[in-house]
Amino acid sequence: MGLLFVQVLPRSDGDLGSSSAVFRCQRCRLDAASTGDLRSREFYGRIDRAYLFDRVVNITLGPIEERNFTTGRHTVNDIYCICCQEMLGWRYFSQVNLYRMMCLQVKAYVESQKHKEGKFILERTLMCKEAP
Ligand SMILES: [Zn+2]
Repeated sequence: MGLLFVQVLPRSDGDLGSSSAVFRCQRCRLDAASTGDLRSREFYGRIDRAYLFDRVVNITLGPIEERNFTTGRHTVNDIYCICCQEMLGWRYFSQVNLYRMMCLQVKAYVESQKHKEGKFILERTLMCKEAP
């Protein structure tokens, strides 16, 4: 295995004075996401409650899949920790990315669900939150 490039998230917003906590992989403690990118806590993952993030770091994407959720059918990629390979959640695939990468007309089937596109779900039980 080659070099692992790990991104370390900032622990505070600097001059703004507001501090942001960092969510890390429960298993290997690698940074995964910052509360600054947290969009919702009102989601459910496979296991339990989950978070919706705009941006997640130190992950690899699984294959693109169509999956049925309680909210409808979505195009997603599972996301894995780059360090320990734990499956941390999934990404809602954005239509724009799909056109760019695959030239397929797959999309979120329910228009009201569009706000999730391109965003990331992280399973809460697989995260540990580091206080600022
Ligand atoms: Zn990990």
